[in-house]
Amino acid sequence: MYYDLIIVGGGLVGAGFAAALRDTSLRIALVEAKLPSQNDPRLFALNYGSCQFLHHLGLWPALASYAAPIHQVHVSHQGRFGAVRLRREDIHLPTLGHVIPARFIEAALNELLTTLPNVTLYRPAKLISLHQKEGCATLLLETEAGEKSIQSAIVIGADGTDSTVRSQLNMATHVVDYQQSAIVTRTKLKRSSSHIAYERFVDNGVIAMLPLTNDECATIWTADNAVISHLMSLSDEAFRQALQQAFGYRLGRLQSIQQRHHFPLRMVRAEKAMEQCVLLLGNALHTLPPVAAQGFNLALYEVAALVESIKEKGNLQQALLQTQKQQAKSIDLSHRLSQLFSRPSLLTSLMLPLGMLGLDLITPIKVKCLKDLMGRAGRVPPLLLSAGE
Ligand SMILES: Cc1cc2nc3c(=O)[nH]c(=O)nc-3n(C[C@H](O)[C@H](O)[C@H](O)COP(=O)(O)OP(=O)(O)OC[C@H]3O[C@@H](n4cnc5c(N)ncnc54)[C@H](O)[C@@H]3O)c2cc1C
Repeated sequence: MYYDLIIVGGGLVGAGFAAALRDTSLRIALVEAKLPSQNDPRLFALNYGSCQFLHHLGLWPALASYAAPIHQVHVSHQGRFGAVRLRREDIHLPTLGHVIPARFIEAALNELLTTLPNVTLYRPAKLISLHQKEGCATLLLETEAGEKSIQSAIVIGADGTDSTVRSQLNMATHVVDYQQSAIVTRTKLKRSSSHIAYERFVDNGVIAMLPLTNDECATIWTADNAVISHLMSLSDEAFRQALQQAFGYRLGRLQSIQQRHHFPLRMVRAEKAMEQCVLLLGNALHTLPPVAAQGFNLALYEVAALVESIKEKGNLQQALLQTQKQQAKSIDLSHRLSQLFSRPSLLTSLMLPLGMLGLDLITPIKVKCLKDLMGRAGRVPPLLLSAGE
């Protein structure tokens, strides 16, 4: 079977890319190894542009009741006076972004995908091998009905951190293991978080408390592996107390916490984005530590730019070449991020990571150095702009 485009990996990035191409005439195959699940515990801080992307896909009505707006980011250091604040007024927008549980985004995207006539879903189907010859890629899939072969002149590898696409093409990676992990949980508050996203640098790591709906907040505590395993071993109440003591009382008395999940912090960066007719996207291209709260935001930026380029040029190969140049900047950005995380300074620790929510939109001098740091000056793709802009 031949397609105009094959996307390997139907995670948020692959599915988001396929959905964003719904009004093109491209015949697309989307290959995903797993069946949809509803148990992803991640809670995403999405910047304004990423939320607009979901709006453009028509997903916002399904997500709005789970999305908590961020009006202000507040970054502080335990034991130091003062804080860095970034307010929505600074960027003249209604919000800096929203916090949305990942499972709702996944469910809304999956529902949309099943309605798209130009997308053929292979699911569950696992990529086994990929060969390129004379501008055509042949992919061998393992499906429930046995092995299946599909072909295309263009393949997108959106199959995550341990990408099979990448390894099939022997594309080299740079890996940084921080020997750190992050605990993700939900904390029940006695009062509203007032739409403020807090980030606090404490003795043994970084705590982010992000607004959620129903007077809850998303808690992400990042620290060395030994600290995290100790925190994971505590009872819920002992963890709540440890969190209260480290974070303080900016959100009042923390009432209770829900189940804790932990994730290792790893940076995986492909050394190049493209190999003949294959382009990498999302975690397959660069997996950022969750503390950056940027992986999906950055991937949607690339997806939006690629979709715009496909629609403008009407030629997939040319669009890929143009995107590859932009991705060189993204790879550079993830490289800069890895350096920041491995050598934190007062300046960078005060600005990272939540200050980056406004990355694509902020113009004042206050964050000019942040933009310079990230190398992200330039035009914002239309899919990330609100309808009126
Ligand atoms: C704890 C945590 C918190 C985070 N918080 C934020 C945040 O606040 N903001 C933000 O922007 N980002 C955040 N991120 C980053 C975000 O999760 C990633 O950027 C995003 O999920 C990347 O999606 P992806 O589709 O590229 O990869 P994945 O989600 O890994 O999807 C890859 C897909 O490919 C499939 N696959 C793999 N191999 C094959 C194969 N051989 N054949 C077929 N299919 C295959 C997998 O089943 C999977 O569904 C966070 C990450 C973590 C871990």
